[in-house]
This record gives sequence, structure tokens and C-alpha cells, in this order.
Amino acid sequence: MEQRDASRVIVVGGGHAGAEAAAVAARMGTPTVLVTHRYDRIGEMSCNPAIGGLGKGHLVREIDAFDGLMGVAADNAGIQFRLLNRRKGPAVRGPRAQCDRAAYRRSIQSQLSQLPKLQVIEGEVTDLILRTDRCCGVVLADGSEVTGHCVVLTTGTFLNGVIHIGSDRRAGGRVGDPAASRLADRLAALSLPKGRLKTGTPPRLDGRTIDYSVLAPQPGDDDPTLFSFTSKSPVLRQVDCHIAHTNDAAHEIVRTNLGQSALYGGMIEGVGPRYCPSIEDKVTRFAEKDAHQIFLEPEGLDDTTVYPNGISSSLPAEIQREFVHAIRGLEHAKMLRPGYAIEYDYIDPRTLRPTLEVKSLPGLYLAGQINGTTGYEEAAGQGLLAGINAVSEIQDASPVVVGRSDGYLGVMIDDLVTRGVSEPYRMFTSRAEFRLHLRADNADQRLTPLAMEIGCVSAPRRSGFEAKYEALQNAREALMERMVTPTEAAEKGLAVNRDGVRRSGLDLLSLPDISARDLLKIWPELAHHSADCFEQIEREAVYRHYIERQQADISALRREDARRLPAKLDYHALPGLSTELQAKLSQIRPETLGQASRIEGMTPAAVTLLLAAAKQLERRRA
Ligand code: FAD
Repeated sequence: MEQRDASRVIVVGGGHAGAEAAAVAARMGTPTVLVTHRYDRIGEMSCNPAIGGLGKGHLVREIDAFDGLMGVAADNAGIQFRLLNRRKGPAVRGPRAQCDRAAYRRSIQSQLSQLPKLQVIEGEVTDLILRTDRCCGVVLADGSEVTGHCVVLTTGTFLNGVIHIGSDRRAGGRVGDPAASRLADRLAALSLPKGRLKTGTPPRLDGRTIDYSVLAPQPGDDDPTLFSFTSKSPVLRQVDCHIAHTNDAAHEIVRTNLGQSALYGGMIEGVGPRYCPSIEDKVTRFAEKDAHQIFLEPEGLDDTTVYPNGISSSLPAEIQREFVHAIRGLEHAKMLRPGYAIEYDYIDPRTLRPTLEVKSLPGLYLAGQINGTTGYEEAAGQGLLAGINAVSEIQDASPVVVGRSDGYLGVMIDDLVTRGVSEPYRMFTSRAEFRLHLRADNADQRLTPLAMEIGCVSAPRRSGFEAKYEALQNAREALMERMVTPTEAAEKGLAVNRDGVRRSGLDLLSLPDISARDLLKIWPELAHHSADCFEQIEREAVYRHYIERQQADISALRREDARRLPAKLDYHALPGLSTELQAKLSQIRPETLGQASRIEGMTPAAVTLLLAAAKQLERRRA
């Protein structure tokens, strides 16, 4: 049986990338089909039920700026909110939420169920349908076909997934789910360059058997920072996490049994995330440390499962139990499930255009862990943009590419398609050149106007955003219009240098010890503005001078980024380029000079050469 509709988007996989891709396509008014193994696993968090963190929290805010699902779901399901890096500047603070796993899934599924253009089909995709050299559908394990205009593949860790616990090895996409081996074979037959990566998860413990009396509680923030610009307060009851520590005895058990670990026993060939080391990695790479922190994080309010963050392992189950029992407070902890490592195929993202479409196979988009990333937030961000671009193609509209100076979404996708990955890619604030501008607090102002233009924002969010934007503009204008002398400021109790310099409200706010509330003594007409509005203006004022200086760099980057390189440019015919760069450029085929300049190994001289070649071709065409 074939389901046809040439104008629809087909999304494969109901994880974090797939849910956002399907939702945005449907929000943009395009008929969309989401094919996934199981409806009840849509929005499943394969590892820790936590959203956000450093860099990742920024991505969630940006997804939310496009009216995406993730921020709302995390706010609905959050049982502990913490703003990481609170003592540092606002640009690098990262909102994070520990979530109730089941409530998170429910929220994603409920948001999807409200989209009339979206149909969900349960099934396993085993093949792609190619017609006239483009991908336009999928075949399911029962032989049925679903066709449309294009396909977004978001199969996560499922391609040739292999689960390892000690020497025990079995096929699987994650515990409890099958691997997608037939689809992996199909992709291999298409000669898409691929590699092998791995990740791991810790054993799960029964919270009722943990001795919390000897462990330090870690409460959430008193003033929770939520993810969605539309949320007002947490929905669920808030709880504490707890902190335990590994010790010499636990390390010794791990060290003595390293040979039995799938990671260290040579059973795994894939590369793992350096910044998320397993307990085996920790005792080997950081041998000088005699203790490592373990965050004991509850998986839900009605669920006694506890996630011991920091001890992922692929040792045999009985060894995992032994080292857990060597830890203070966990002496009698019941292990509900052992930790495990998983190896899986990923497709080299340098085969993708910045729209996430496969260059050699129009109509096929890839998003999420299949592109070598790790993390729910990175997956969701890619899903969002793949979904938007799939719809743009159907609507014959321009591709939507977020610039590096406009969002972490842009930084991530540019990094992936330009540099590829050598280990699972995760977002860090350090990856962004324009961190002061790309703050979590202003994600809506940076991206919601674009989201409204392409039609993926609901009416309530649009009106909320417009009202907020107008209030901010009014406040900024009022604070800029009136200049105050040091004497006037001092008369109102504001500590300002008696240097004779007249200052605007924003100038005053950039001084230490002056808050937006202090300014009300001079600008009482702003008293009706919300606390949020004032906080926003304060952050802008603090960074104003740096950002103004950055604007010149941002404009230069935009100009450079905008210069297109001819699709058929023969790099091998460009004298002066090293053979290595000729090969890299021919493989990656950057679409713009900006993208080319960020390829690993590019030198300023090589960029100048490309610029000259591009200009020469432009002149010949003119
Ligand atoms: P997934 O969430 O994996 O979703 C894939 C979806 O595709 C699933 O719904 C699946 O059913 C469906 N699917 C797959 N193949 C088919 C098919 N052929 N037909 C139909 N449906 C299909 N990330 C971190 O940041 N830190 C960690 O510590 C971490 N640890 C992890 C530990 C483990 C054991 C695992 C499995 C993952 C871990 N991750 C970790 C990764 C994180 O879970 C992923 O990055 C994230 O879930 C990726 O989202 P995704 O949408 O790309 O894929």
C-alpha cells in the first residue's frame, strides 16, 4: 500500500530532532508524516532526563524563539531548575532543568497531537525511495510505502547500533529498542561517507535504597530560570538532587577490572565524547584524583529511579554493582539497570549543505545524532532547521540558514558542515565568536523576527513577542533620549564621577552599582515596565560598548559569508592552493567564502586566492 502526497514532508524518527522537524514543518502549514518505531517513545530521553546546560541552554532558547517544542516541554516537566555559571557574565550563563522523564515525553507528544497537519505512523523504515535522482519517500518493514516531497532522517544512535555491557554485545538503538540495520545498509549502498562513534550511560539506582542522610543535598534555584519565553513558572513540584563522591576503593575496583570493560577491553572501535568521560576514563585519564563528584538526579516525581550522573560505564553488571556499593551513601543501593556503552554509525556532516540536505541526494535531509552530534539540544536544533528547509524547498522559498553571528544554531550547523566531526559534537559557548551578542536572554529578539517571517510562530507567541519588543524599544529610546549631568544624577542619589560628562540612561546603567530600578528616580515614566524588561535592558547596557565594537566584525563576517562561491569552481585548477586544501575544498564544496574560510587548515592567503577566483568568475559572467 502506498500513501502519497507529493507536497508533504516525511520525517523518520521521533527523537528530539525528529519531533522538532515534524512539528515545525506542520506549524508552517505543510502536510507532514512522522514515521517512528513507537508512538509512546516519541520525545524519549535516551540518557539523563535533563535539558540545557552551558551552551545547550542557549540552543533551547533559540529553538523556543522559533516556537519549538523543547523549551516548553522542559518547563512543563522540570523538577529542578538551575542557572549554571550564575557568577559569571550573562553571556555564558546556561539554564538547565532536571526533568521528570515521563512528563517530558508527555509534553512533547501532547504538543505534537495539537498539530492538525501532522500524521504519525508507527513502523520501521527500511529503505528510501529515490525517483529521478531525488529522495521522495520511505519503505516500511511491512513493505508499505510513504511518499512525499522530501525526507528528513533523524535516526539518532540507531544506525547499526551495538550495545556493550562488558563482553556482552547485542544489536540495539538504545536499551529496549531495536537497531536500524537495514536502513544503515541502504545508506551504505548510497556511498554516503560514514564513521563510528560511541557514547555511554551509567547504571540506574533505586532511590529508596540510597542513604541520603550522609549525602549533601543540591537544591534548585529559588528563582527558577525557565526555557520558554512564554513560560511563567515551573509546573511540577521541585525537588533536590544530591551529591556523592567516588573514592579509592571504588577506583580500585574499576582499575582492577578495566580489561573487562567494553571500552578498555578493545571491544569498541568508535570514538566517544572526551568531555563526558566514563568512570573507566576517569580513573585512567585523571589517575591523580582520588574522588569524583556524582550528582544523584531523580528521573521523576512518581519514579524512584535515580540517575547517578558521572559514572557511565560499560563494565560487566556485577562489577558496576560492586563499585557502586563502595561509594558512601550507596552501600545498599539497588541497581535497577546496568550502565552500557553504545556504538553507532554517523554520516559525515560535510556531505550536507548548510540547509542539512545531502549534497549528492536532493530531497534527503539529515538531522541530529546521525550527523555526529551528541545531546538532545543539538539534535533538536538541527531538526528544527532541517524541517524549516524541507518546507522552504516545497514552497520554493529561499533556504533558511542562521548566521554564526545570529545564533548558536548557526554556529553548530556551520561547524558541522564545514569542519565535520572527529568526536561526538556538543555545543559550548566557546564555539561562538560573538558570545556577548548571542546570549540566552535575547534569543527571541535575535531569531523570532525571522521565525515570524517564515511562518512558524503561533499567534499568541507572535503577539507576546511584539508587545515585549515594543516595550523594550520604548524603554531604550526613553533612556537614550535624555542626557543627565553628574549633578542631576547625584541629586537623585546615583554615584557618578563628577567629570562634567552628560550621560544617557544606558550609559548610567553600564556603570557598576547602578540598576535599572535606580533609574526610575530620573525616568519615573518607565515604572510600568516589567522586571524582565528592566533585566534585559541592564544586560544590554553592561555589554553595550563591547557589542558596538563587535558589530563591525559581525558586518564584515556577514559580507564575507554572503559572497557565494561558484558551485562548479575547479579547486584543482587553482594554482597556489596546496594539494591538501584543493582536496578538502573539492570534497566540502563550500557555498560561501565565509564557509570556506572556516575549513580546517585554510590560510588567509588561500582565502584571498578564492576571493580572487570568485571575483574573476563573477566578472566573466557579467
Ligand atoms: P534519538 O533520540 O536517538 O531518536 C531517534 C529516533 O528515531 C527514535 O525515536 C527511534 O525510534 C527512531 N528510529 C530510528 N531508526 C528508525 C527507523 N529505521 N524507522 C523508524 N524510526 C526509527 N547525549 C549527551 O549529550 N550526553 C550523554 O551523556 C548522552 N548519553 C547517551 C547514552 C546513551 C546510551 C544513548 C543511547 C544516548 C546518549 N546521548 C547522550 C545522546 C542523546 O540521547 C542523543 O544525542 C539524542 O537523543 C539524539 O536525538 P536524535 O533525535 O538525533 O535521536
